[in-house]
Amino acid sequence: MQLYNKLSAKERAELIEKAGKDRMTISFYKYANIGNPEILRNHLFINWDKIDVLGRIYVSYEGINAQLSVPAENFNTFKDHLDTITFLENVRLNVAIEQDNMSFLKLKVKVRDKIVADGLNDESFDVTNKGVHVAAEKFNELLDDKNTILVDMRNHYESEIGHFQGAITPDVDTFRESLPIIEDDLKEYKEDKNLVMYCTGGIRCEKASAYFKHKGFKKVYQLEGGIINYARQVEAQNLENKFIGKNFVFDHRRGERISDDIIANCHQCGNPCDTHVNCANEACHLLFIQCEACAEKMDDCCSAECKEVHNLPKEVQKELRKGKEVSNKIFKKGRSEVLKYKK
Ligand SMILES: [Zn+2]
Ligand SMILES: [Zn+2]
Repeated sequence: MQLYNKLSAKERAELIEKAGKDRMTISFYKYANIGNPEILRNHLFINWDKIDVLGRIYVSYEGINAQLSVPAENFNTFKDHLDTITFLENVRLNVAIEQDNMSFLKLKVKVRDKIVADGLNDESFDVTNKGVHVAAEKFNELLDDKNTILVDMRNHYESEIGHFQGAITPDVDTFRESLPIIEDDLKEYKEDKNLVMYCTGGIRCEKASAYFKHKGFKKVYQLEGGIINYARQVEAQNLENKFIGKNFVFDHRRGERISDDIIANCHQCGNPCDTHVNCANEACHLLFIQCEACAEKMDDCCSAECKEVHNLPKEVQKELRKGKEVSNKIFKKGRSEVLKYKK
């Protein structure tokens, strides 16, 4: 039985291009007790591979977190299959705002310890005692309330290109890192203020809200389905959009535009820009913001050093990389001293 990708990303991209059929980018997550993640992993791979589903999926004893690209014509088959898995029946699917047929080029279903890479240790508190889930309309109401403190539960490179108006955006590299900082900053408000939080699709708030309740915050709310779902509801229900800029997403698109505001700057020249790229030097891959003019000038690289390496013959570059740890750095945190305009 074939349980791994047979095609390279390039071959897959060519196939998708040739087929010329629309694909949907979808994400979902669910906390649940999974007895045997390995069996679930194989079951999902076999069934999804059959209907050309691509994406990055984490399965663990605590649940599932999935980012997917599904052929539009197979969506119903995909949904029907999900509904056959008891704990995923009617799970909320977040459908991306901006479509891109190339959002994922492989199907990777991985068994992990946690479904959020930088998650928390649950032993110390009850993760099911979570905050009140609110939809877009109620969320907007809460934001208008003077008694509300709004916190962005994402990392610095995500909130840099887009966030809710008035949100606290912790300057952190990981989710875990942000929790004690937020708790410390807000400790005087535990009793009386509304602590409202949001993230991309809702999964991080799921734990963060339980964490803050455990720490004594009385009124804890979380945006149901995160920014992705909010943007959809705002449009469908004609509500005021309080999100400015782009929503950072973890696939090839890297971001989807929610409002026309460009709130970030090119890290190299400082001009308004909110396009994330990865340094073209294979040995670097730093995630940073780069405008088109700088991309041209720097050959898509983050620094003069990287540009130099990038322009060496491929074989020489390979030699240079030998023995060095080159993991998948696509989302390597965008901090580097060479980036003058990184806030
Ligand atoms: Zn620039
Ligand atoms: Zn670089």
